[in-house]
Order: sequence, then structure tokens, then C-alpha cells
Amino acid sequence: MAPTPAAVTRAAIALGSNIGDSASILKDALKALDQHPQVSLVRHSSWYRTVPVGPAQDDFLNGCALLETDLAADALLELLLSTEQDFGRVRLEHWGPRSLDLDLILYGDQVISSDRLQVPHPRLAERSFVLTPLAEIAPEWIEPTSGKTISELASQLGEDGILQRIT
Ligand code: AMP
Repeated sequence: MAPTPAAVTRAAIALGSNIGDSASILKDALKALDQHPQVSLVRHSSWYRTVPVGPAQDDFLNGCALLETDLAADALLELLLSTEQDFGRVRLEHWGPRSLDLDLILYGDQVISSDRLQVPHPRLAERSFVLTPLAEIAPEWIEPTSGKTISELASQLGEDGILQRIT
């Protein structure tokens, strides 16, 4: 009997960079994720220049992407963390500058709360640098803890901190 294929889940990730050639780093990171045999890139948002949160540092370039994967959520998180390392992320201080930050924002309609992983990402509703790009590519996706769509959450929050959309 043929093995049962693993279920494919749609996941949303957020990307950010404010060190080095951020535009190339974000594009190359997406290419690297898409090359993983268990991940395919569905689409990504425009890139947005945004005001940094935390200590004074350069503006960020942020965006979001939708992936399809048969990796479990914790394995997808491991892949995101190892991709950050591959792109030379140096974490000098909490919320400080970084060459690549990848966050798992949504994983299907699942709510996950473990020591290592919280999904939906706990600060989603307060981050215009995530909600604005995510609303561009997944406006109807229902955020399972609030029951609201991404588009509703994005318009509730507004676009404070978004400096420029780069198409
Ligand atoms: P940071 O790089 O500051 O975003 O934090 C990364 C750490 O947060 C990782 O070591 C993860 O274990 C943890 N974490 C918890 N939930 C998430 C999530 N949804 N996406 C990314 N990292 C997460």
C-alpha cells in the first residue's frame, strides 16, 4: 500500500532585515525556503521600508510570504531559524539590528502555544509592518484567536511606522 501523503498546510511568514543589502537578503531567503523539498513559496508581498521598533537603528525592510508545506509547525520554525543563521544573522541585542529575521505568523488555522513556538505570532495584532504586507497577500485569512480577518486587523491598526511601499 502506498504511504499516506502528509497533509499540506498553508503558512504565513514575516521577513525583516536592516543590515546589509536587505532587498537581496529577503529575496534570497525566500528562494532558499522555496528550494527546501517540503516547502513551496506561493507568493510574497511588496517590500516595505518601516520604522524600527526598539533601540535606534536603521530602517527595516519588511514583507510577508505564503508557503505551502508538509512540515509540522515546529519543524517549519526550525527551518526558519536555520535560514536566519545561514544568512548570517548576528543578534547583538534584543530587538536590535539583524540581517534576517523570520517569524512564523500563521500555520493553517492552528493555535499553538509551546515553550518554543507561539502561533498565531503573539504580537501580530500590534505590528503594522506585518499586518500591512500580510493583508496584501492574505486579506481573507481568519486569525484564529480573534476570529477576525487579516484585512480587518490591518485596517483596525492602521499604517503607523510604514514609510514606503516598494513594488
Ligand atoms: P526573535 O528572533 O526575537 O523573533 O525570537 C525568536 C525566538 O522566538 C525563537 O527562538 C523561537 O523559539 C521563539 N518563537 C516563539 N514563537 C515564534 C514564532 N511564531 N515565530 C518565530 N519565533 C518564535
